[in-house]
Amino acid sequence: MSSGKNLHGLPWRVVSFDYDMMINLLQTNVSEAKAYYSWVAVFVVLFLGVVPAIILLKCKLVWPKTYLGGLGSRVLILVVAISTIGLISLPYYQNYASIARNNNMLRKEISPYNYVWYGIKAIRQTYFPKQVEFTKLGEDSIIDNPQERPEIFVIVLGETARANNFNSNGYHRDTTPYTEQEKHFIRFAPVKTCGTATAVSVPCMFSNLTKASYDEDKAYNQSSLVDILEYSGYKVAWYDNDGGCKGVCKRVPHEVINPYAAENSKYCKDGSCYDAILLDRLHDRIHVALKNKEHTVIFLHLIGSHGPTYYQRVPKDQVLFTPTCDRADIENCKVEEIVNSYDNTIAYTDYILKGVVDTLEEHSQDFGTAMFYISDHGESLGEYGLFLHGTPYSVAPNTQTHVPMMGWFSKSFIDDHNMNMECLSKNAKSGDFSQDNFFHSMLGILDVNTKLYDDNLDVFKSCRIWIKHDTKGDINTVFKEQLYLGKKYNNSKVKTSMVQNPSLNKG
Ligand SMILES: [Zn+2]
Repeated sequence: MSSGKNLHGLPWRVVSFDYDMMINLLQTNVSEAKAYYSWVAVFVVLFLGVVPAIILLKCKLVWPKTYLGGLGSRVLILVVAISTIGLISLPYYQNYASIARNNNMLRKEISPYNYVWYGIKAIRQTYFPKQVEFTKLGEDSIIDNPQERPEIFVIVLGETARANNFNSNGYHRDTTPYTEQEKHFIRFAPVKTCGTATAVSVPCMFSNLTKASYDEDKAYNQSSLVDILEYSGYKVAWYDNDGGCKGVCKRVPHEVINPYAAENSKYCKDGSCYDAILLDRLHDRIHVALKNKEHTVIFLHLIGSHGPTYYQRVPKDQVLFTPTCDRADIENCKVEEIVNSYDNTIAYTDYILKGVVDTLEEHSQDFGTAMFYISDHGESLGEYGLFLHGTPYSVAPNTQTHVPMMGWFSKSFIDDHNMNMECLSKNAKSGDFSQDNFFHSMLGILDVNTKLYDDNLDVFKSCRIWIKHDTKGDINTVFKEQLYLGKKYNNSKVKTSMVQNPSLNKG
């Protein structure tokens, strides 16, 4: 939903009831919906909705005497109206002909056509989906790098963090004070998203489909990245503090944090929990991995910067920027208060990431440990009069379609993966990335060898050497290249040759 203030400073709301918005409506949960509840909202519904409806009900209707007569007069009114429109627009036909085609948006703003049409479509999709058979993908996948020690890799999926509000992307404020001094911490240039809402971005990112080829039916009915990592031999676990994973984790062990459970009360209040609860879960899960010495990927789905109740995302004693907007009906706050509250959520996410890194660092002697973070979509904070997100992609501002992406790698992980960090930080800054890169980069950096993997979309590929075996158990081309260069493989030699052989370092 987007809302804002008009030129006279009065609050108004623009809601494009397109298909994605109706899906958001159907897939939300009580605590998320409660965030929009306020006395102003109750007042608006009551006095602009219920009261006029009662007045309308009281009106006395005079029905036509016969059905035929009633039908006839209605047809007549329609014919006259359509002919009048036709007569007026005829001289300007050329100007009107392409409007609907060029302005896809218009269809989404015609009421009640928009919510009736898209509502029916969304209900059909959610409750009566086409019976599409589940397609198992990546069954050939294996973890292909036998020389490494076991790995613990944490993938943090962010919520509503936008690229603009990170100082690494030129923001004037220090919103990442906790990880700033961290070594081997790579911050990528802003990443283009697949959608402007969770229900689109998440299934898209976790599928092998790209933004261009994304198809909801397909994405929901085929193996996700999470499934494929499990097929390859990783133990996987998904912890969700954002109400759910949009289907991508449903076939693997997962937990959606219950804000009402007594054992979570330390972190939860008013139906939502601080993301620090995920650090507890991470801690517990890591100990299972350590005990069993298993290759493990742990997913943490943050509630991050979920609005409009930004103030509920951050504990009071961790607020950095004031004054804040401490209410759900944000149209009654000043824009700078809203921005302060939002920036507090970005800084708090940074605090969580630092917590993940510290936990992983502790165990980096015996395990290759690393973390990767990416957000699902951005947010509007008053630019062009828009707030929140979910604006149709074709007209969505940059702030909704560009998100942060970061990675941290322990020394042991860097060694085991023959990573050239100098090369990676250079590429990270100069690259042109989108969420299409996520699926293949994760397969690549986790050494998952499968026919699905497309190395052109792997952001790490040109800055590491992956010694993998091809399907015949033979060594792969990169290794052959090393042999061709007359260098027998060992860790230090490979690194030397990467520096000498600039073709391997290309972005
Ligand atoms: Zn989201």
